[in-house]
Amino acid sequence: MPGSLTPEQEKLREEVRALCARFPDAYWRELDRERAYPEAFIRAMTEAGYLAALIPREYGGLGLGVTEASVILEEIHRSGGNAAACHAQLYIMGALLRHGSEEQKRRWLPPIARGELRLQAFSVTEAEAGSDTTAITTTATRDGESWVVNGHKSWTSRIEQSDLLLLLARTSPRDPADRTRGLSLFLVDLREARRAGTIEPRPVRTMLNYATYQVTYRNLRLPADALIGDEGQGFRAIIDGWNAERILLAAEAIGDGYWFVERASEYARKRVVFGRPIGANQGVQFPLARAYAAVSAADLMRYQAARLYDAGQPCGAEANMAKLLASEASWQAANICLDVHGGYGFVADYDVERKFRETRLFQVAPVSNNLVLSYVATRVLGLPRSY
Ligand SMILES: Cc1cc2nc3c(=O)[nH]c(=O)nc-3n(C[C@H](O)[C@H](O)[C@H](O)COP(=O)(O)OP(=O)(O)OC[C@H]3O[C@@H](n4cnc5c(N)ncnc54)[C@H](O)[C@@H]3O)c2cc1C
Repeated sequence: MPGSLTPEQEKLREEVRALCARFPDAYWRELDRERAYPEAFIRAMTEAGYLAALIPREYGGLGLGVTEASVILEEIHRSGGNAAACHAQLYIMGALLRHGSEEQKRRWLPPIARGELRLQAFSVTEAEAGSDTTAITTTATRDGESWVVNGHKSWTSRIEQSDLLLLLARTSPRDPADRTRGLSLFLVDLREARRAGTIEPRPVRTMLNYATYQVTYRNLRLPADALIGDEGQGFRAIIDGWNAERILLAAEAIGDGYWFVERASEYARKRVVFGRPIGANQGVQFPLARAYAAVSAADLMRYQAARLYDAGQPCGAEANMAKLLASEASWQAANICLDVHGGYGFVADYDVERKFRETRLFQVAPVSNNLVLSYVATRVLGLPRSY
């Protein structure tokens, strides 16, 4: 909970905070302007071992839990940065850890932990299927000892910045009786794919600095041992990672939420209009206090979810609610922060408009809040499913 982290977790927070302080607002602002990838930041995070936080020590990682991973991501956002460039290695590691064979883990995890290989890309969403992941049509067909992949993904972030990618593809036709079957998960060595010319990424410019792409797979040939887990069970494997993903994303939104409240409070203390600091007006104070309360409440839910996750307990309800509450609280704080800055909130040099654009994403991706609400309604409250 806020204020009740262990001394080791507090130390980790301080260390990440110190690293982030080397990458000030101007660094992120310039990247935003250029829509560039934060290479220097990613290198520093990798060298510090943080991107291997969830890799067990026996494979060279830090062997930490989701609680610690969430603290790392929160600090990046709280410092004014953005973890989008590196968070996938934490989000998607669970699929490899839980469903990869011992041979696959021994082969891939140590070089990832050493920073020699990046596993930063996750290729799932397709234009026609959208949130209905079980409707994807990209296929992987068995051909002797290989798989041959064909299809198109409408979103695959960081494919150009990554060496490895997790791909969800259909290995047998959709079964209306069990829509979750027939999809399989593959670890793609992008270096091979680039050499063979079988992937074609196309950058997509979005409202925030996000290295995201459409990608076409044309006869991408994968070795048999690229399959992670059992054939046809790939959807289950990614669902297993969803709770961790939601907790980590909540922590990023909470980091943003605190950033907005802190920035706005600092500004409201200093900015004098009508002969007094604007923060002396209750019309400015109250929305800020309300936003802070919302962020703090979401933070409690995030730690509750993380604690359950790390204890191996069911945490679907808490993880989903943490994602919902945190994304809404950060957006509430973003709006107040913009209001408090008046016209300056729209000026790039103040960084508020950049963070404002960035934090809006949490309500939509990697999963929309409607689907999160649907989970709570159907799985927690027992209401009938609408789809
Ligand atoms: C910057 C960015 C980066 C991304 N990176 C990746 C990536 O690396 N890999 C990847 O696989 N994907 C990625 N995505 C895709 C992202 O996961 C999807 O955008 C998201 O899952 C929503 O899917 P969609 O955009 O197709 O929306 P849709 O599914 O078309 O939904 C549109 C709207 O309809 C609502 N809706 C749909 N069905 C229902 C329902 N039954 N009940 C109520 N409301 C409903 C949704 O909540 C949403 O508000 C990225 C997206 C963005 C914006």
